[in-house]
Amino acid sequence: MPTNGQHAAGAGALLAILRDGRARTRGELARLTGLSRSTVSQRLDGLIGSRWVVESESGISSGGRPAAVFAFNGAARVVLAADVGATRARLAVLDLGLNVLAEQVASLPVELGPERVLGGVADGFRELLAAAGRDAGQVCGVGVGLPGPVEHRTGRPVNPPIMPGWDGFAVPEWLRSRLGAPVLVDNDVNVMALGEHWAARPAVDHLIYIKIGTGIGCGIISGGGLHRGARGAAGDVGHIRVPASEAPCRCGNSGCLEAVAGGASMAAALRAAGIEARGSKDVVALMRAGDLRATRLVRQAGREVGAVMAAIVNFFNPSVIVIGGDVAEAGEQVLAGVRETIYSRSLPLATQHLAIRAGALGDRAGVVGAAVMVVEHVLAPASIDRAAGA
Ligand SMILES: [Zn+2]
Repeated sequence: MPTNGQHAAGAGALLAILRDGRARTRGELARLTGLSRSTVSQRLDGLIGSRWVVESESGISSGGRPAAVFAFNGAARVVLAADVGATRARLAVLDLGLNVLAEQVASLPVELGPERVLGGVADGFRELLAAAGRDAGQVCGVGVGLPGPVEHRTGRPVNPPIMPGWDGFAVPEWLRSRLGAPVLVDNDVNVMALGEHWAARPAVDHLIYIKIGTGIGCGIISGGGLHRGARGAAGDVGHIRVPASEAPCRCGNSGCLEAVAGGASMAAALRAAGIEARGSKDVVALMRAGDLRATRLVRQAGREVGAVMAAIVNFFNPSVIVIGGDVAEAGEQVLAGVRETIYSRSLPLATQHLAIRAGALGDRAGVVGAAVMVVEHVLAPASIDRAAGA
């Protein structure tokens, strides 16, 4: 059915239909869009010319000649994706169908500052392109997730607490001048939410992705798209106050969720009890090895996160909550606590069809999400129409 708006039946709309598989032939496209077959053919020619679409003969004859079948050409171009963390960056080359063609994890502590870290990211991308047998001319965009607040419109970090030297740095311009493709930047949790939202197909309109790692934060998909808030600070649940806690938090307040349930705080609690633990990964490893104190901490962290999420479930009414981050690798130990508390404290109407589960993408949520951010931008019907009309 054609929808309103000038792009309703442009080349970009046809490409969107081919991407989600609702139509494959000229006749089906004409029926779905209300366009004449000749207009459909003309637009398809343009999309084939710019390599967005490939044509193949159908084996199935519909009475007379076999109908030509058209498909989105997800392999013709690639996206570069970087998930920059506090100490490491995961880099990947993906095709437009979001298949990972090559990837690497580089040791790039974010505290080295933007030029050294982004220089390492650009070098890594060049190596990965060569490894995937692709060249810079095939790159249609670059997506980057950073471990701090980012103003999405400009792609610049805003007062990031663990990123000295990055405040206001022009990340997109710096990378674009070296990689020759448009660059989109967002904070890591938003990017991971995009990745898990893509992985949660078929479409889920209201999803919360919560990352329990060293710190705690969440990304919000509302009405099918990312909700960033007025200043990009939406989802910062790690500093919501937990009742009956006075634990000091790195933000300067006390009693924050992160200060009782974050990986760094659990590791500190174990060290105070004489057990060697440097961070969230060690806490999970100790739990897996059968350490009772670590197990108790992880379960309690699940309940604390669940208590905050219960309020969010009542407020936001998501249909899916995805739990990711290092601590989520504790699996059922943490999920059980989250579920138990959400189901006992949220309203029945809000939890009736609520799914609470571990992330599907694991460590790749960030790079897949960064690629989703780029693909959604590059393949937006308006972008395709602009390119076709130019
Ligand atoms: Zn705090």
